[in-house]
Amino acid sequence: MTARRFFPNFINLDAPYNYHEKWDINDPERYKYECATMGCRTRVFENRFGPKTSIGRGNLSFSTINIVRLAIECMNIKDKEDRIAAFFAKLDGLLEVTAQQLHDRMEFQKTAFAKQFPLLMRGLWIGSENLSPNDSIAPVINQGTLGIGFIGLAECLIALTGKHHGESEESQELGLKIVTYMRDRVVEFCERYQHNYSVLATPAEGLSGRFTKFDKKKYGVIPGITDKDYYTNSNHVPVYYKCSALHKAQVEAPYHALTGGGHIFYVEIDGDATHNPEAVMNIVDMMDRFNIGYGSVNHTRNRCMDCGYENAEKTMDECPKCGSHNVDRLQRITGYLVGTTDRWNKAKLAELNDRVIHGK
Ligand SMILES: [Zn+2]
Repeated sequence: MTARRFFPNFINLDAPYNYHEKWDINDPERYKYECATMGCRTRVFENRFGPKTSIGRGNLSFSTINIVRLAIECMNIKDKEDRIAAFFAKLDGLLEVTAQQLHDRMEFQKTAFAKQFPLLMRGLWIGSENLSPNDSIAPVINQGTLGIGFIGLAECLIALTGKHHGESEESQELGLKIVTYMRDRVVEFCERYQHNYSVLATPAEGLSGRFTKFDKKKYGVIPGITDKDYYTNSNHVPVYYKCSALHKAQVEAPYHALTGGGHIFYVEIDGDATHNPEAVMNIVDMMDRFNIGYGSVNHTRNRCMDCGYENAEKTMDECPKCGSHNVDRLQRITGYLVGTTDRWNKAKLAELNDRVIHGK
């Protein structure tokens, strides 16, 4: 099915951070203890204020930090250690602002009444069954999560060191240091504000182009950083960078344990996956080997909307079977399936066009 329709994606319940001590293969209700994600990546599992589960809860809000801009602002510092130290100081300040902003937003959200959410707050959310229509949702809403996200780790590392984490071990080390730092601060925010904060590897459907546009305007075209129409998705190795699926897995895997708010591992595969299920199985095996939490494969799938003919060619303008031009080209952009790319923003289309296939 995933070879034909891109879904299902795969979640790795054997990854240590997706483990639940009550999970038992013989328990018909084990789904209660299974980590689940929203399609695109949002992950809700750990819980400081109730049962650790993905059921009866959700993500309330997330805000994304433009770590690329923070790095650009430090680029003129000659000494590398000083440059990196300056970056961390800026990151720290913005983490504080983000945590405070999410807290303030939650304080406002808390003032809503149960009757405003007849589905969510009248039985679906944990504890909402005890609410009367005119009760505020305050006692229930803390079951939800607040995400502190980041975008463009690759461009951030290029600004700080000259190389992204897919091409340099030193950059990878720094990348892990940055995201680990975010995770550690987020744990402190959980204590301070008493919410379920988590670090999110932001998918950035809209931000990917928005931040880049602002930064290009302010700082000009900087090679490897603002010279494209988009910033690289979260902690991903840049889509234009040619490497094996194995290398991509090894580089991206350790970030999954740090990003409890959600993450995804994508591999672009070539050819017709329906005749090559081993290619998909290979990716799933890699997820197991490297403790990748959530992953999927991308490829091309064309379908004639008149006669149902399908193939996996790069393009299919005309159906080879019936000659129809009513052709649907299935593609995935940050978790969403699109038959036509007409409605997508320029940044995401630029990213789509830059994608390279990951060989063995
Ligand atoms: Zn046809």
